[in-house]
Amino acid sequence: MSFAILGLCDELLQTVAEQGYTTPSQIQTEAIPVVLNQRDVMAVAHTGTGKTAGFTLPMVQLLSGGDSPQPCTVRALVITPTRELAAQVAESVQTYGSMMNIRTGAAFGGVRIEPQIAKLQAGLDVLVATPGRLLDLYNQQAVSFDALKILVLDEADRMLDLGFIDDIRHIQTLLPAKRQTLMFSATFSEEIKSLAGGMLHDPVLIEV
Ligand code: AMP
Repeated sequence: MSFAILGLCDELLQTVAEQGYTTPSQIQTEAIPVVLNQRDVMAVAHTGTGKTAGFTLPMVQLLSGGDSPQPCTVRALVITPTRELAAQVAESVQTYGSMMNIRTGAAFGGVRIEPQIAKLQAGLDVLVATPGRLLDLYNQQAVSFDALKILVLDEADRMLDLGFIDDIRHIQTLLPAKRQTLMFSATFSEEIKSLAGGMLHDPVLIEV
């Protein structure tokens, strides 16, 4: 199995090779073609399975070549439960998007909001954010979701464990209904199924 048959463009195949990845992991093999087909995905996968590249690589490809983002807009939003994960995912998006001219930013609490507002002012292709800070930015009119095409919920089960369900449901009401949504969770509990039922449209289920 090689990355070449998954539908990724040459620039991304080069990036993957530069990372030293020779073989796609199971989640990457299953998720990349489905995301490239613009389907919604419910993926049950733990950290360490390569899930970040599994959603980031096709997301970056779908965003490439699009219009430049307008001020304060974001074209893709990745929501994570913790600051650490937000920083880590933003770094992955930066790495995987390096050859694709993708503008990425991270927004999380515990640090000053002003630099995050300044970064958003130019518009971003991808914003990686924790729920609370994202809502702060929205309430300060620092971010608009009008141009949003892709939503990713990473580690959705941890999001529920940390009590972010109300924030997530609120954020959902602010987003365009017509979008592609990808949800990743380490477990597939009834709660996660119910959240997925309300957020995903005819999702492809991937369990690794
Ligand atoms: P993740 O599950 O997304 O947190 O990724 C776990 C680790 O696996 C990260 O350090 C990645 O750099 C690495 N990784 C992701 N995809 C591959 C791959 N196809 N081959 C080798 N390493 C990978």
